[in-house]
Amino acid sequence: MTKSEHYDVMVVGAGMVGAAIACALGLKGIRVAVFDRALPSAFKPNQLPDLRVSALSYASGQILKNLGAWPYMETMRMCPYRRMAVWEKLYSPVGKELDKRPNQIIFNAADIRHEQLGFIVENRVTQLGLLKRLEDIESVSVFAPATIESMNLRGEKPEVTLQDGNVFTADLLIGADGAQSRVREQANIRLDTREYEQQCLVATVEIEGGLQDITWQAFTATGPEAFLPMADVDGKSYASIVWYNLPENVHKLMKLPDSEFLEELSTTFPKELPPLIKLHERGSFPLARRHAMNYFANGVVLAGDAAHTINPLAGQGVNLGFQDVAWLAEILTDAYHAGRSLGSKKVLSRYEKARRRDNQLMMSTMDAFYLAFSNSNVPLKVLRNLALGIAGKSRPAVKEVMKYAMGISGRQAELAKSS
Ligand SMILES: Cc1cc2nc3c(=O)[nH]c(=O)nc-3n(C[C@H](O)[C@H](O)[C@H](O)COP(=O)(O)OP(=O)(O)OC[C@H]3O[C@@H](n4cnc5c(N)ncnc54)[C@H](O)[C@@H]3O)c2cc1C
Repeated sequence: MTKSEHYDVMVVGAGMVGAAIACALGLKGIRVAVFDRALPSAFKPNQLPDLRVSALSYASGQILKNLGAWPYMETMRMCPYRRMAVWEKLYSPVGKELDKRPNQIIFNAADIRHEQLGFIVENRVTQLGLLKRLEDIESVSVFAPATIESMNLRGEKPEVTLQDGNVFTADLLIGADGAQSRVREQANIRLDTREYEQQCLVATVEIEGGLQDITWQAFTATGPEAFLPMADVDGKSYASIVWYNLPENVHKLMKLPDSEFLEELSTTFPKELPPLIKLHERGSFPLARRHAMNYFANGVVLAGDAAHTINPLAGQGVNLGFQDVAWLAEILTDAYHAGRSLGSKKVLSRYEKARRRDNQLMMSTMDAFYLAFSNSNVPLKVLRNLALGIAGKSRPAVKEVMKYAMGISGRQAELAKSS
C-alpha cells in the first residue's frame, strides 16, 4: 500500500551538502525527508583511498564538528595539511624547470596560530560521517536508494512521488542533487555556464617517504599541477595528484599504461613530487563554471553544486556548499521558530542575499587565476610572477589570503563558528 507523508522540508540529494543540511535542520527539530538514488558503500579501514577527495577548509571542519559528523569521520580517515605552496613554473632556456623560485608563496597555518590549514578527506568519508550522524537524529528520515518518479512544483506545496508510489509533500524542497540537478531543472531555474578549455586528471598514487603535511600547486600555461597528501593505509602512504591540461593531453594521459603514466608524471611534475610506487586509480573531469540565475523558485531552493560549480583549482567547491548549508540552516531555523513559511520569498531571498555574492566572488577569483595563468603572454607572465613574488613577501597579504581560503574571513554563520 502506498502512503502520503508531509514534512517541513524535503532534500533531494544526500551527498555531502544534502546530508549536511538535513543534519543542521534536523538538529533544530525540523522534520526532514531526504532522498538519494544511491548511498556510498560502507567504509573499510584497509580499503585503498578513493579517487574523489576534497580539501576541506578550516570553516568546513567547524561546520562538520558542530553538526557532530566529525568524530565519525575521524574514526575513518583524513589527512591534515599545515602548509600550502603555490608558484608558477619558470624554465631555463633549455626547458628545465628553475630550482630557484622567487615567485613562490608558502602559506603556513602556524603564521596565523592555527594547527592546520585544512584536511584532505575522501568525499565518501565526509558523506558517510554525515549519514551516520543522521541515524541519531529522529526528525530526519533518509529514503535511499529511492528513485524519484516525478516532482510537482505547481501546487501550493512541492510534491515528490517516488517510483514505489509513495508521495511526499513539504513546505520547502531543497535541491542538493549536484551539478546536473533535476530539481533545478524542474523548478525552471536557468544557469549561467562557462566551459573551461582545460580538463582535470585526478590520480591516486602510492608514494615513498611517509605522510606529508604540505599540499602544493605549480601553475603552467596548460594548467596547474597539484599534490594533495592523503592518510596512510596499512602503513603505506598515498597522495592525490591533480593534473590540469588540455582535453587532448588529458585524453592521451588517461590512455597510457600505468607504468608510462607514472613515468610521465615523474618527469613532468615539480621536483617536490615524492618517488612514486604504484598508480592506484585515475579519472578525468571536464570543468565548467555554473551559477544558478536564481537560488530559489516555485517552493524550491538550491544548495551546493546544484546552485554553483567552480573551477576546482583552489579546491573550494564543497567548501562553498558547506557555507550554503550554514546560512540556509540558520535562516530556515529562524523562520521556523518565528512561524514563517519556509518556502516564502522573504525567507529564501535572505539566503540568496547571504550566499550569491560570496559564491560569485570565489568563482570570479578562480576565473582570474585561470585566465592569468593559462596565458603565455610575456608581459603578463612577468607581471603575475612579480605579483606572486611581492605577495609572497608580504606577510599581512599572505595571512589575509590564508584566512579567505580557510573560510574564516568575513561574516560567519553560527554553524561555522568554533564552539
Ligand atoms: C576534480 C575535482 C576536484 C575537487 N576538489 C575539491 C576540493 O579539493 N575541495 C572542495 O571544496 N571541492 C572540490 N571539488 C568540488 C566538490 O567535489 C563538489 O563541490 C561537491 O562534491 C558537491 O557536493 P554536493 O553534495 O553539492 O553534490 P554531489 O556530490 O554531486 O551530490 C549530489 C547527491 O545527489 C544525489 N542525486 C543526484 N540526482 C539525484 C536524483 N535525481 N534523485 C536522487 N538523488 C540524486 C547523488 O546521488 C548525490 O549523492 C572538486 C570537484 C572536482 C570535479
